[in-house]
Amino acid sequence: MKGLLFQQGRLRLARDLPEPSPPADEVVVHVRLAGVCATDLEIAKGYMGFEGVLGHEFVGTVEAPERGALHGSRVVGGINCPCGVCERCREGMPFHCPARTVLGILGRQGAFAERIALPAANLVRVPDGVPDEEAVFAEPLAAVLRMEEQNPFAPRDRVAVVGDGRLGLLAAGVGLVKGWRLALVGKHPERLDLLPGRPPFFPPGGAPASSFDIAVDCSGSPGGFAEALRLLKPQGRLVLKTTVALREGADLNRIVIDEIRVIGSRCGPMDQAVAFLAEGRFKPSVLTTARFPLSKGLDAFSAAQNPGQIKVLLDTAG
Ligand SMILES: [Zn+2]
Ligand SMILES: [Zn+2]
Repeated sequence: MKGLLFQQGRLRLARDLPEPSPPADEVVVHVRLAGVCATDLEIAKGYMGFEGVLGHEFVGTVEAPERGALHGSRVVGGINCPCGVCERCREGMPFHCPARTVLGILGRQGAFAERIALPAANLVRVPDGVPDEEAVFAEPLAAVLRMEEQNPFAPRDRVAVVGDGRLGLLAAGVGLVKGWRLALVGKHPERLDLLPGRPPFFPPGGAPASSFDIAVDCSGSPGGFAEALRLLKPQGRLVLKTTVALREGADLNRIVIDEIRVIGSRCGPMDQAVAFLAEGRFKPSVLTTARFPLSKGLDAFSAAQNPGQIKVLLDTAG
């Protein structure tokens, strides 16, 4: 089968990948659409030490086993595959299982291929009313919802989303639907048109300092942490949603002096993400700026690195 393989420091289109042959508790999913995210771009630069098929944002159809309860269902899937038996798993932290594999990121072939294998327990059915073009956003959407799963925001909290790329716009869209008192910090004011509302918009450095209760760094850039820190009131909360190799220019003493809480935040609840999409109050497909067939996957990767693009999709039909 076809897939985008990262091997020996190089990304290429492979046409002779082995078909998945999963253990009994896993199913084979035919991938319909997949999304390229910043993590994929980082892996393709060799930053994460992963070799294999990339991709972890997808919607697909369950192909095997043929007699399984999910056969023929359209699904999205959680990307973390924990062992289920270790201390971390028993303590209710399966996403932090040290023996876990992660789809297209750690020890498991990813979704930029015609088929993948995942544990049946990871899959969530997609309702008929949610098209593939929305469902493919379930994974990053779950990551946005994770923030409030960790610590619900209070109605009076002023929230700054730092970054107006893929994840920042998704967070802003969710926040507007949920009624956050939101401001967006970014470089593309024209992108406000994509959101279900018009939050105040500031360029980096433009919003008043010490004026937010919560700042979410979705910037994916080294300066995002410092900007988020600058925006926070004393005892504010800084939520880190993106990994970057360096965090530049931040005065960490401010975390002590202003008693800032820094919270790392990763993968979230897929079932809640699908429920959010089914409500239809914000359709993330507005963030899709390009769509390529899988056979043009390398072009999709170059496109996704262009800052003018937001979400780039891969279609396995081509
Ligand atoms: Zn991702
Ligand atoms: Zn475990």
